[in-house]
Amino acid sequence: MFRHEKKLQNVTEIREALAQVQIWRRDKSHEVFCPICDAPGFEIIDRSARPYTEWYAVKCEKCGLEDAIAVPLCPQMGGGN
Ligand SMILES: [Zn+2]
Repeated sequence: MFRHEKKLQNVTEIREALAQVQIWRRDKSHEVFCPICDAPGFEIIDRSARPYTEWYAVKCEKCGLEDAIAVPLCPQMGGGN
């Protein structure tokens, strides 16, 4: 399952990774799973430094994923009309 490509490849993968970050934010003791290979122990590191954006470095030992994703600070998730 080791990928040559370490970065998240498309919107779907980024969305999956963000979903894991959301779970982790609610409960940091909760085990999160890699959005690519589904392996447990998906590593998320909070690198937020700016006032308007949260940054999370994500890493998976299993498939080699290593990337950083930004979470816009919106008061509500999803844009329901
Ligand atoms: Zn993985």
